Amino acid sequence: MPLVRYRKVVILGYRSVGKTSLAHQFVESEFLEGYDPTVENTYNKIVTLGKDEFHLQLVDTAGQDEYSILPYSFIIGVHGYVLVYSVTSLHSFQVVQSLYQKLHQGHGKTRLPVVLVGNKADLSPEREVHAVQGKKLAESWGATFMESSARENQLTQDVFTKVIQEIARVENFYGQE
Ligand code: GDP
Repeated sequence: MPLVRYRKVVILGYRSVGKTSLAHQFVESEFLEGYDPTVENTYNKIVTLGKDEFHLQLVDTAGQDEYSILPYSFIIGVHGYVLVYSVTSLHSFQVVQSLYQKLHQGHGKTRLPVVLVGNKADLSPEREVHAVQGKKLAESWGATFMESSARENQLTQDVFTKVIQEIARVENFYGQE
């Protein structure tokens, strides 16, 4: 019998880094030009990994900055996080660091299921954050790192399968179901 599990994942990051574009690529397989600031949107998708089936509920948020207070709904009942910055914005990279600290305080755990994503990798000439910086930061959290391009549909599926795997990895670490 395949296992069926429910996973709630919240996408966090500074505004305009591509959170909605990543979620949209993942669920609808298309890229939307133009910027439409999200209020908050939930997507559902069934993801099959090996024999297991995951009912993924993705919460695309309005975007945060270093002063944002994260609501309880971003902490309680959430299994994992996708923290997104844009490789073209050093500020957005600083914002994910501040968000991670807040999640860490909110959960009171040393290890959180997080995938750190440097999006807009197709805009390399405008790069302000090098891949090695993202990799180092994720390593310091014990998290997974990847660069993506929602525009070119580069690794957008992987972001969300990685977060499901990351949730399983952290569960094993804590010996929980
Ligand atoms: P959000 O506010 O973080 O949800 O960002 P959006 O998904 O709305 O994207 C903000 C802007 O960046 C839009 O104009 C998108 O078309 C653009 N964008 C998003 N992802 C990428 C990407 O990977 N590459 C490029 N070149 N543009 C992107």
